[in-house]
Amino acid sequence: MTKHNWTREEVLALYNTPLMELMYKAATVHRESHDPNTVQVSTLLSIKTGGCSEDCGYCPQAARYHTDIEGNDLMSVSHVKAQALRAKASGSSRLCMGAAWRNVKDGEDFEQVLDMVRTVNKLDMEVCCTLGMVTENQAKRLAEAGLYAYNHNLDSSEEYYKEVISTRGYQDRLDTIDNVRKTNVTVCSGGIIGMGESVEDRVDLLIQLASLSPQPESTPINALVAVEGTPLEDQKPVEIWDMIRMIATTRIVLPKTQVRLSAGRTQMSKEGQAMCFFVGANSIFAGDKLLTTPNPDVNEDMALFEALGITPQKPFEKGDKPTSVPKDDSELVPLGEKPKWTRPDHKIERNEQAKAKAKLVRSAH
Ligand code: SF4
Repeated sequence: MTKHNWTREEVLALYNTPLMELMYKAATVHRESHDPNTVQVSTLLSIKTGGCSEDCGYCPQAARYHTDIEGNDLMSVSHVKAQALRAKASGSSRLCMGAAWRNVKDGEDFEQVLDMVRTVNKLDMEVCCTLGMVTENQAKRLAEAGLYAYNHNLDSSEEYYKEVISTRGYQDRLDTIDNVRKTNVTVCSGGIIGMGESVEDRVDLLIQLASLSPQPESTPINALVAVEGTPLEDQKPVEIWDMIRMIATTRIVLPKTQVRLSAGRTQMSKEGQAMCFFVGANSIFAGDKLLTTPNPDVNEDMALFEALGITPQKPFEKGDKPTSVPKDDSELVPLGEKPKWTRPDHKIERNEQAKAKAKLVRSAH
């Protein structure tokens, strides 16, 4: 039976287990629920890039910081279809569409996203969206369109979250996950390490994820990619040993979830990635970009799979394909809600500094 009430002492003890022992434990748990020679390949597609109103300290898409990101309006449905077909042809079984929004707003853009979901569902791919906060009705409409998964990361512990983001609260994240849970859409939620958090923060993030009932079907573990211009630009790259410890501990406390080795793979050696697979990572993102940051080339990934004897996971191996209701048969309508997502607006010194620096750079141009 899956354990939901992990204590900090228990998870800390796991995280700090001598590495060889931890790897053995995690690999054993992994084999109980997963085929160790199968890894899912997913493609992350940025359907609306940049210009975001939020202040996430790690994110180059936040409008208030000065980064090299080229912003784009919402992609057309035909463009998404072409990208999905490309992703499928190169071995991806899942397409995750990300929009740099604070939250979903009812209206034309959301209708277009629903069309994208219907279109990709028809291609027999698992469709995932990451669009910011959603209400229950919006989650239901996504489910009706045929969405397979909704991604909404908790990012870090509740405590450390306040050091990274000031424009929305941790509870909003949990409420969105709760709204998704009221549908048949699966939950994808994880976090980022390397933002300056303590080991206790990493452990608390995992305890929070493990306490969700059911636990998320998918948990991305990202290593921060420090982008110039963002408040976290000076963070040092995550040590591979930390990544292996985090993945292994995630595997043990979330035994059934698909653990996703996400951002930061370009900083890892092939051997390091293989060790992450050994301890329980069973998904990667393919494509030379992960939203806006670099990612290994898909041919390199396939060569690594071949060397390791790994087979890409087929679509819907871990869950049924959702039915997609055609637009004209839809029973759900936009409610035009104006949900009160919180805006704590406390001051985070390094976010303020990055914002001030961006203003200076802009006024100099
Ligand atoms: S992580 Fe998402 S919500 Fe935060 S600034 Fe980036 S695009 Fe906006």
